[in-house]
Amino acid sequence: MRMNRRNFIKTAGVVGVACCGGLGCSNLLASEKYPTAPLQSESQLPDMLRIDICTMCQLNCPGCWRNCPPKEGGGPQGLGMMPFKNFKKIVGSHDIKTIELVASGEIFLNPDLIDILKFCHKKNISLQALGGVNGNTISDEVINALVDYGVKEIAFSIDGASQDVYSIYRRGGNLDTVINNIKKINARKAEQGSEFPKLTWKYVIFGHNVCEMKKARKMAKELNMDFSYADNWFVGYSPIAKKDLAFVEREKRSLNEHYSTEVDFLRYNVCAGLWYFPQINWNGRLMGCCINYWKDFDVDVVKVGLLNALNHPDYIYAKKMLSGEAPPSNNVGCTQCYGYQDMRKTGKYVT
Ligand code: SF4
Ligand code: SF4
Repeated sequence: MRMNRRNFIKTAGVVGVACCGGLGCSNLLASEKYPTAPLQSESQLPDMLRIDICTMCQLNCPGCWRNCPPKEGGGPQGLGMMPFKNFKKIVGSHDIKTIELVASGEIFLNPDLIDILKFCHKKNISLQALGGVNGNTISDEVINALVDYGVKEIAFSIDGASQDVYSIYRRGGNLDTVINNIKKINARKAEQGSEFPKLTWKYVIFGHNVCEMKKARKMAKELNMDFSYADNWFVGYSPIAKKDLAFVEREKRSLNEHYSTEVDFLRYNVCAGLWYFPQINWNGRLMGCCINYWKDFDVDVVKVGLLNALNHPDYIYAKKMLSGEAPPSNNVGCTQCYGYQDMRKTGKYVT
């Protein structure tokens, strides 16, 4: 099932990571904000990375990327986990300030997670997992490490307030287990006197779970969690009934004040990742952005290092395409992306 343009753009809202405006560069000239020349030195590397440490998952949600085109079993991500030694090599001695532990799978299944948390804590790197975890399998050791190593924020994808409704989409998941894991994190936070990690309950809205939206908000509050809604981009699956649309829109607006369907939002929150928060796959392959389901950049960051990877000719060319300086190329996944196709139609590039 393909995403349509509108839902694709909305997916960007799910990502919720730093945008260019949040990186303190909004006063720069456009060409300075999104330069397309190769990086001259390590000092020009971005200070945020998105590293997909595990694309494997114990659940089987019908709309998961691995069940969707471009090909059965997913796109170029493949299934696997990044070992700590490779994570360490990628970060190296670069001045990385923030890492999003991306969630194409379930980060808690990576057996090296504690080493990763410990390493980042030592290097004063702020960790977040805002893409969404399912939270069904978290060992007590990992729960303690999340708090003790000061992970900043985690979003839990919980699309129901009862087991019956939750498990319609999160197939194989157990709501009680998830809630229990959240309570354990809260208990550890209280024990250590820490406010981190901040927890968010992320509720993807389907037709079948509209009835539990309010109850879920209440449960989140009781668990001291922020609450956010996200749109379902699995087109055609469990659509919202017409009679519920007005209620759903009201509920969303009441929380997501910055909610936007503008192409601008995609460009500056996802495509901008090529410049400011590039995504690296579990196997070291450079993906560029968080929703590149088409083609990676054919370069292994672990082998060649961050600077060389980000200077790969196809990556530089992708920046030129997104800036409107170069025509589409089949070597670049963006060519097949709805976001880029929108840019070509509208002439609104990343500038
Ligand atoms: S929890 Fe996320 S990664 Fe796991 S199957 Fe569901 S959508 Fe996919
Ligand atoms: S155009 Fe490229 S960088 Fe932008 S969202 Fe699509 S694949 Fe990602």
